[in-house]
Formats: sequence, structure tokens, C-alpha cells
Amino acid sequence: AHSVVLVCLYLNIWTCTSGECVASDTNSSEESPWQPYLLKISKALREYKPCTQANCSCHRRVLNADLAPFHKGISRDVVQEAVKRGVGTHYQILSHRLYRQNDCMFPARCSGVEHFILEIISGLPDMEMVINVRDYPQVTSWMPLQPIFSFSKTSEYKDIMYPAWTFWEGGPALWPLYPTGIGRWDIMRKDLKIAAEKWPWEKKKAIAFFRGSRTSPERDPLILLSRGEPSLIDAAYTKNQAWKSEKDTLGRPPAEEVSLVDHCKFKYLFNFRGVAASFRLKHLFLCNSLVFHVGDEWLEFFYPQLHPWVHYIPVTHDLTDVRKLLDFVKENDAAAQEIKNRGHQFVTEHLRMEDVSCYWKTLLLEYAKLLTYVPTWRKDYHEILSPAQSKSEL
Ligand code: UDP
Repeated sequence: AHSVVLVCLYLNIWTCTSGECVASDTNSSEESPWQPYLLKISKALREYKPCTQANCSCHRRVLNADLAPFHKGISRDVVQEAVKRGVGTHYQILSHRLYRQNDCMFPARCSGVEHFILEIISGLPDMEMVINVRDYPQVTSWMPLQPIFSFSKTSEYKDIMYPAWTFWEGGPALWPLYPTGIGRWDIMRKDLKIAAEKWPWEKKKAIAFFRGSRTSPERDPLILLSRGEPSLIDAAYTKNQAWKSEKDTLGRPPAEEVSLVDHCKFKYLFNFRGVAASFRLKHLFLCNSLVFHVGDEWLEFFYPQLHPWVHYIPVTHDLTDVRKLLDFVKENDAAAQEIKNRGHQFVTEHLRMEDVSCYWKTLLLEYAKLLTYVPTWRKDYHEILSPAQSKSEL
């Protein structure tokens, strides 16, 4: 076995032998209290292989895994069963035109999905699919397998993940910050780039920050910690459309909403699941702040490429480790900056609008290959046109 001297940071020499790293303190024989975290970072970095591809192939493994259960093919009957359940919107692509059943539970969400399909439709073969635009996935592991597309899931589900509508439109509306709903990832990316430049690391407040509604009680411990120690953590509940009383904001009046660009003022940004994965996560990385991601069950298509200790600080659900983690990142600023830089770089380089469109295209091309039949047009379905097509028809 060979030994490699890895890093000489934090006054420690890290020696790794056959995958095991040990730190020897150059100043004292006492073990650094941060050693367990530093070891986690060095281990994560050793195992991490950065994706260097320029297109969406970094995310390819996710769609391969989602489609793998359907490797024997997808029959007309199975698709019809999925349509009949009524949990998703039925789309058909025929001769490069997009058709849809009349109802869509959330029209802005359907519109966000349709934007991406229409953009790539000239390269797509005939197919039909059921796209769930609710928050929650629909295909549990114990029920008969059905091809239903959902934006988020856990490993308990067999839904096929697609890039959420909010990359274009149909995200949650916040008055007055996002009156038409969070969307337009292309514009968000530019705004967040400007905000990140305006708030470089040295200028950011060394405090943990969270703003959001109580879409999951998993967020409660952070809000309570913040109430006890506001100089350490600034976390508060805002209203959402379901807000009825202060009970929904944990016994306090709702806090004022804070725009995503204003999150960039803070060094440490918290993300939690909501009903499913939260749309918040991708924005936090672009602030070039250090992301604290609580729990790892709920996914969107791009999450598996983001790694704990490489791109973000992982936090356990009960949040008992939060105080120690915050001490760690403050005491080990160089390590903290390296993690936030990698997170920022990954989302900058591999979650561009082109990557989202590319993922949609690869996903639908691979899905279409699995259909064992040629779909036939349902007469009661109407054609979905792009805004430009609709205008020219007038
Ligand atoms: N949000 C925001 N500022 C706020 C509150 C929420 O930008 O003050 C954003 C948040 O980042 C997320 C969306 O609004 O993208 C919905 O947040 P919420 O906490 O209500 O629900 P989530 O989707 O996170 O479960």
C-alpha cells in the first residue's frame, strides 16, 4: 500500500493510505475537533469524479435508472391504465405536433412543461405520455408499474423524473416578489450572478439563513433554533396560500418574504424538502454561498450529481448537528469556501437552460424507444401551440 500526503491545510498534514486518511497536527498531539468533518470531506473528494461533459450527459444516469424498470417495453394498455388514474395530464406527440387532454389541474405548470416539449418537438418521434404536474409522485414501489412523469420523488417511488415546470414558469407565486410565480431559470441565473458578484464571500453575513413557508414540519427545528439564537441563525416562516392562522407559522406572525437574490447576502443558506423537493435548492448554489442541505430523500433530476461534502454540507433531519456544523465552517473557512465554490461551479456549468432542454430531449427520445406501439390521436384532444405559433394563427 502506498501513502500520499494529501493536503496541508488547517495546520494538519493529511496522509492517506489505501483510501484511509489520518491527520497529524503539526502543532500539538491533540486531535482537532474538526477531524471527523475534515475526513468526510477528504473521503468525499476522493470518491468524487467531476463531470467534464459540456452537455446534459452528466445527468444521464438518472434517466437511465428511471427508465430501467420499463426495459421490457411500455404497452398501450399500461399507458391507458396510467391515463385512467387521472393523476397526470395525458399528452400525445404526433407528426411533431403536441396534443393534450383538455383539463390540466395547474395550467401554468402544464404551460411550463409544454414550453420545453415544443422547443424540441421537431426532433421527437410519435409518442404519448402522462405527466403529473402535482407536487407529489404517484408510482409507489408496491403498486403495478406505470410510466408516469413527475418532477420529484424519493427512492420509494418509480416515477420518471422530468425537469420541473418552474425552470420556465408555474412555480409558487410570492406577492410582491414573484407575482406570476417563480420561473424563468435563464433570467434567475443572470440575476443571481449579479447578486453573487455584489455579495462576495467577505461581504456576506456569517449567519445561517432560511425563509420559506411551513410546507414540511421538518423545518421547525431551525425556526426554533433561530428564535433562541437570532445572531447565529436567521430563519423564519412566511405565509403560503394555505396559511390560515399563526399556527401555520409556528405561533408567530408570518415573516416578510425575501427574494432569492437577497439570499446572497448570507454565507450559509439552508434548504429543506417541502411537500416534495423544494425549488429553492438550485438558486442557493448560484448565490455562491455555502448550502446546508437537510435530508437526502427527496430528489429532482439534477440532485444526484450534487454530492455531500463536495458541493454542500449535509444536515440530518433532527438538526442536532447544526450548531457544530456552523462552528466547523466558521473555524474552517478555507474548506467552506472550497465546498461552496464547487457547488456554485456545478450549477453554473451543468444546470444551464440548455442542460434542462437537453435532459428533456434525451429523456423523451429514450422513453419513446420503449413504447411497443404507435399511438393514435384522441379526437377530443386539442393541439398545444407555442406562443409564437398562436400569434401567427391569429
Ligand atoms: N421563497 C422565497 N422567499 C421567501 C419565501 C419563499 O424566495 O421569503 C421561495 C423559496 O425559495 C421557494 C418558493 O418560494 O423556491 C416556495 O417556498 P416555500 O418555502 O413556500 O415552499 P417549498 O417549495 O420550499 O416547499
